[in-house]
Amino acid sequence: MFSTILLYALAFSHGTHTHGIAEMKVAMEGKELEIEFEFPAVDIVGFEHQAKKDSDKAKVDQALKKLREHGTIISLPKAAKCQLSKVEADSDLLEEDEEHNDFEAEYEFRCEKMAELKIIKVLAFSHFPSVNKIKAVAVSANGQFQADLTKEKNVFQLSDD
Ligand SMILES: [Zn+2]
Repeated sequence: MFSTILLYALAFSHGTHTHGIAEMKVAMEGKELEIEFEFPAVDIVGFEHQAKKDSDKAKVDQALKKLREHGTIISLPKAAKCQLSKVEADSDLLEEDEEHNDFEAEYEFRCEKMAELKIIKVLAFSHFPSVNKIKAVAVSANGQFQADLTKEKNVFQLSDD
């Protein structure tokens, strides 16, 4: 669905993350919009060891549920007429016992008026207060946009004007 160039640009830098800092990748092509997040697990559930205890597993389940409610994580301009076509949320915490683990969330939309998608508002900060910064990058046929988002500055600009 997406061209190789866009997918390549979207690949997350796997490796050590910094606690408090999440990543956001946005790709727009034609009417397709894809938004991906990667959060350090500690900022989502407060731990990064493998979830073995029932109480830890419950925290992971609850967080995944929250991440799948896209409307609580991001807000898109109504004028862009975007319809959710796919949502996925995952965490390594259920399988892996690593020093660092992540939560990933992916949302795909079909936007009838992509030209109206001039901003994306990120609401995740209010649900995960220990996320201080989200490093956002967007790629489209028109170019590339980058921003460091915070709770106070949570609007990702996708146009120069
Ligand atoms: Zn970590």
